[in-house]
Amino acid sequence: MARVVTIAMNKGGTGKTVSTVSLAAIAAKQGWRTLIVDADHQGNALMSFGGTTDTLPQTVFEVLTGQAATAIHSLADNLDILPADDQLALIDFEVMGAKPGRYPEPFRLLQRALAPVLSQYDFIFVDSPPSLGLMTGNALIAADAVIVPVQTEHFALRGLMKVLDAIEDIRQREHPDLEILGILPTMVDARTTLASEVMQEIRRFYQPKGIRVFESVIPRSVRFAAAPAYQGKPAVLVDPHNPLVKAYYELFEEAFGHVTAYD
Ligand code: ATP
Ligand code: MG
Repeated sequence: MARVVTIAMNKGGTGKTVSTVSLAAIAAKQGWRTLIVDADHQGNALMSFGGTTDTLPQTVFEVLTGQAATAIHSLADNLDILPADDQLALIDFEVMGAKPGRYPEPFRLLQRALAPVLSQYDFIFVDSPPSLGLMTGNALIAADAVIVPVQTEHFALRGLMKVLDAIEDIRQREHPDLEILGILPTMVDARTTLASEVMQEIRRFYQPKGIRVFESVIPRSVRFAAAPAYQGKPAVLVDPHNPLVKAYYELFEEAFGHVTAYD
């Protein structure tokens, strides 16, 4: 039975997609049957593998709205994707504008869609959009656990508070078993004192509340930021010695405990 892990943060550009794709690729490399679900209309998860969302006949949108039974594509050994495209930006209007009774549980669309494939995977990683709307709600309710990537910069705590409040709200109202796996500091520039100050502040604030802040932190990688060098493949699959890749392996081990060698 798959463990469903959502990567969520309402702030944009905090490393959600890179974290989703990296953890999924590591899981697959270790032999776990793994599915990536893209719950973000930007469609960046598939793009991370060099794919284009322009020609997809079916996506998560059709599955959520009941127009298709499945839209899962194979990416690599042990690694599949349920991709998104910009149609998904219309999901809120589709659901709100539908006839009464058409979507009786609008926040459980993804949970329903994944139910038939849970037994086919060991891990399902869900990438979510930079907002706290319908799709993030769906991604959290469908999940067993959530990882919250946060950039170590000014205003980080503001975004963090909002997403953790939303998670707490969902736990109280809909899904008491939703586990916060941890807060993940991303794009950490070890040379700046700001990054370590922000990390300390996050640890000081959340650890007493029983919310884990991962020991693993993801460094800012200039080599990784020059993405074309990777020719449409996640760095995890092509650049095992990049510090960013090593950091994602460490995170995988810290979060899930199963890990083999870096390559
Ligand atoms: P969005 O909110 O738009 O979905 P996101 O939270 O998914 O964004 P990513 O797309 O993963 O964030 O990352 C944002 C940008 O930063 C991308 O261009 C990505 O290549 C780059 N990036 C991510 N992590 C790192 C890192 N550790 N070092 C350098 N660049 C990074
Ligand atoms: Mg993204």
